[in-house]
Amino acid sequence: MAENLQRQIYLLDPGRLSQETIAVTFAKTSRSPLSFREIAEGLTDEKSAEFHEKWVVGYGHASVAEHAVLHIAFENVSRLAIECIESNRLASYTEKSTRYQKWAPGEYYVPQEVLGEVYEATYCQCCDHLFQAYQNSIEPVREKVCERHPRREGESDVGWDNHIRSKCVDACRFLLPSAALANVGMTVNARALEWAICKMLTHPLTEVREIGLTVKEVAQREVPTLIKYADRVPYLSMTEDGLAVFADALGAEGSDETLRLVAYDPDAELRVIAAALYAHAGCSFETALSHVRTLREQQRLKLVETLLGKLGRYDVPLRDLEHAVYTFDAQVDQGAYFELKRHRMMTQTPQRLTADLGYAVPRLIAEAGYEEAYRTAMDAAEEAYHTLAKWNPHVAAYVVPNGFNRRVLMTLNLREVFHLCELRSQPNAHFSMRRLVLRMAEIIREVHPVLTAFMRLPEGANWREVEEEHFAQV
Ligand SMILES: Cc1cc2nc3c(=O)[nH]c(=O)nc-3n(C[C@H](O)[C@H](O)[C@H](O)COP(=O)(O)OP(=O)(O)OC[C@H]3O[C@@H](n4cnc5c(N)ncnc54)[C@H](O)[C@@H]3O)c2cc1C
Repeated sequence: MAENLQRQIYLLDPGRLSQETIAVTFAKTSRSPLSFREIAEGLTDEKSAEFHEKWVVGYGHASVAEHAVLHIAFENVSRLAIECIESNRLASYTEKSTRYQKWAPGEYYVPQEVLGEVYEATYCQCCDHLFQAYQNSIEPVREKVCERHPRREGESDVGWDNHIRSKCVDACRFLLPSAALANVGMTVNARALEWAICKMLTHPLTEVREIGLTVKEVAQREVPTLIKYADRVPYLSMTEDGLAVFADALGAEGSDETLRLVAYDPDAELRVIAAALYAHAGCSFETALSHVRTLREQQRLKLVETLLGKLGRYDVPLRDLEHAVYTFDAQVDQGAYFELKRHRMMTQTPQRLTADLGYAVPRLIAEAGYEEAYRTAMDAAEEAYHTLAKWNPHVAAYVVPNGFNRRVLMTLNLREVFHLCELRSQPNAHFSMRRLVLRMAEIIREVHPVLTAFMRLPEGANWREVEEEHFAQV
């Protein structure tokens, strides 16, 4: 075989080539017969910028920008701001965990909006109270946890401490307000980043808009052309303001039923099975579906066994499962929502964070004799929230602790259901998430028992038991 026809696989070196040059190198393969190395050798940063101005910005060939990737470090940003930072599906994140780390008094954000206002004292007193209550809760809760989980034979100091600490802060974190500061690392391509910056620059909170400006500034050093035009998007702000006016008539409404399946297709299992067959047949989808409908139950089960029966522990089910889609209306504590939002594959429509839907009380807090102090802090936060919300509901959300309930509408496909429920039902997952996903699995199993029988959930796990064991109040 001629040398130029030999297979070659190699990395373009980001230490030698700028991100914009790497993106152009890949883009040019569309029309150039040269190798990537040869294309890259012919480029300079200036030539790359010109290319992007012409093709990405001028002609809208925006996918080229996906080949430029940035790693952005955010430090000391509020958890409320992180909601916007992490609202992008096509990006990757790792953040400071409320499950493995503790927050010290004063580690919270004071927004520009409140500085010098009559509400500044209300805001700071509320956050100080919550942080103090959080701090004070750790020791009694820890004693209770140690009593229940004595050190296992041979367990090291570090191992035992880790084991105890996460159980302890899993309960205490309900007191932390969303003003709590955290660090987050984000890996993102320039195309997704441009829209992420647009969203930040249009956000109602000053903190997020400031973060957006800084991200734009630091990212421009690496990809000067690709995010140059990121700006406020009036469509976003005007639409949200307009919708809020219409929604005003509806008010806030809590629910005893914290998870409701509000939309699904009863035939979805058949459609998934038909789609799986379709891939290997030569017929139309309608023919495949009619065929599946005519199968006897035993034959259909055999087919499903073929589709899902060989799943290994770490295998991902075939994409055909994505043809079954479910919409849930959920009410979860803010701590759980913060974890749930990281599941990027599903579509989520959260309501604003408020103190209108009541709060949960972890059983451990009650059993540690800390319930009264907990309720005093949570009630004070609720009062502070309402005082602040009359003035600025966006800023008021900063004082709402993790224990308060929040509503979120979720639409997800069966493949994501498998992933979410399997991952978050494990014994090491937070109990708020385990309760949510085990209930979700139970509800979906009722409507679609055949495919969901293959979900790899922990033996005997049950959301009612999780709720009973971990919540004194939901
Ligand atoms: C025990 C535990 C501890 C955790 N600790 C922390 C922590 O300390 N800090 C923290 O920030 N997070 C933590 N997380 C959250 C975790 O890192 C994930 O962000 C979260 O669970 C969402 O999972 P996911 O990315 O698999 O799900 P989804 O976003 O729902 O994605 C579903 C699947 O799609 C694929 N996928 C989606 N996006 C990509 C992508 N960009 N590249 C490649 N594949 C992709 C993957 O197969 C993924 O499993 C923890 C999670 C668990 C279960």
